[in-house]
Amino acid sequence: MNPKRILVVGAGHVGLYAALRLSKKLGPREAEVIVVDPQPHMTYQPFLPEAAAGSISPRHSVVPLRRELRRCTVVVGAVTWIDHATKTASVQPIVGPTREIRYDQVVVAPGSVSRTLPIPGLHEHGIGFKTIGEAIYLRNHVLDRLDVAAATPDPALRRRALTFVFVGGGYAGIEALAEMEDMTRSALRYYPELNPDDMRWVLVEATQRVLPEVDPDMGAYTVQQLLRRKMDIRLGTRLESCVDGLVQLSDGDSFPADTIVWTAGVKPSPMLDATDFPRDERGRITCQPTLQVVAGDQVVADAWSAGDCAAVPDLTKEPGSYCSPSAQHAVRQANRMADNIVNVIRGLEPVPYQHRHAGSVASLGLYQGVAQVYGIKMKGLPAWFMHRTYHMSRIPSLNRKVRVVADWTLAFFLKREVVALGQLHDPREEFVEASQPVSPR
Ligand SMILES: Cc1cc2nc3c(=O)[nH]c(=O)nc-3n(C[C@H](O)[C@H](O)[C@H](O)COP(=O)(O)OP(=O)(O)OC[C@H]3O[C@@H](n4cnc5c(N)ncnc54)[C@H](O)[C@@H]3O)c2cc1C
Repeated sequence: MNPKRILVVGAGHVGLYAALRLSKKLGPREAEVIVVDPQPHMTYQPFLPEAAAGSISPRHSVVPLRRELRRCTVVVGAVTWIDHATKTASVQPIVGPTREIRYDQVVVAPGSVSRTLPIPGLHEHGIGFKTIGEAIYLRNHVLDRLDVAAATPDPALRRRALTFVFVGGGYAGIEALAEMEDMTRSALRYYPELNPDDMRWVLVEATQRVLPEVDPDMGAYTVQQLLRRKMDIRLGTRLESCVDGLVQLSDGDSFPADTIVWTAGVKPSPMLDATDFPRDERGRITCQPTLQVVAGDQVVADAWSAGDCAAVPDLTKEPGSYCSPSAQHAVRQANRMADNIVNVIRGLEPVPYQHRHAGSVASLGLYQGVAQVYGIKMKGLPAWFMHRTYHMSRIPSLNRKVRVVADWTLAFFLKREVVALGQLHDPREEFVEASQPVSPR
């Protein structure tokens, strides 16, 4: 029997776990697993806020693909289109011409991108918070603003540099806001020129609550905690414009800010537009509970999807409900999907995915958190501890777990790093200047 070729598009939470499981369960005579991702690593996104805040080294919140997926073929590049009718995908490697890959089974898991709105100025000034690059950039940018504020004698410039606006109150936005404020407050001890009251941290959220993943009382507790830290929480408010960094809100307020972070939701990867897979009104690939792609009530043979880019029915809720875009579902769906692919290859029936969302854990900075897991609610230190232990247990590989715990331990004894490496964003600048041809005197 010729080995089946399984193409895995995207090596995030779904792709990495699915590829790992497939390559463990299927021998080389049964299947060849090819994994394509533009990044050579998987990003453990729930650790991005801590990576930005300096509690974890950014390198330790990503998982190198070649190290983890030794039994798979890893291709660093982007899938540009998929024609499932002919079972062909086109891959643009990081260098060289595009190449076409034929497959027998395909796992479509390119995840999601930030869902933005046509707000004037957002494209020019907004910072996303979905990738490790964005987390590193935000950290350097925020610390750099402290240096700017400390250096300027102009109070208006200082106020602008120390105004940080976060749009979107889901777990990504709340954790990013709370962790960055906590880090900045602790960095201020090294800035005698600055006063904590000079800082302005603003959360702009269109609905009347934050953290929709937990009960309203836990969202209200979170708002209370942020207010106690003197943050400016604007519920029921929208960002209307930020042209030239002048933030204009729907409540009529307007002020200049150097930092505008956009965490107001996600939409499926635009790469799906270049495929012939069926999609729902939100652009997600339509799936059966077995994670097989489905068009109407017709299963699309040999095509699978899961995670942020897929509409997977949630069998634990009323009919018509779909699984939320979360790492919790993505990882479990990946394992179920891999087992189902193995079943189908071996002539067995696939099994529906079913998982009751356990709840959410969110860190609000060092020693502060909020959690609701299987109905049990926790606040403060126990919730923060739960957040850390849960995510430590979830990040793939023992290697990463050990490194993350080592980072936390070091930060506990030595305090977090609060240095900005802004040069990272233009590392050649100094050399380019030094190597300018010298004009003769
Ligand atoms: C800041 C933040 C915090 C979060 N915290 C939590 C949390 O606490 N709990 C929780 O449950 N969830 C959390 N999430 C959500 C969770 O991380 C996502 O739901 C999960 O990553 C979805 O998994 P995925 O595999 O669908 O997508 P991803 O993990 O995003 O993986 C998609 C992969 O596809 C790759 N890709 C993209 N385009 C292409 C292409 N054209 N070709 C090939 N590959 C491509 C990408 O590079 C990426 O590696 C958080 C998200 C963020 C941003």
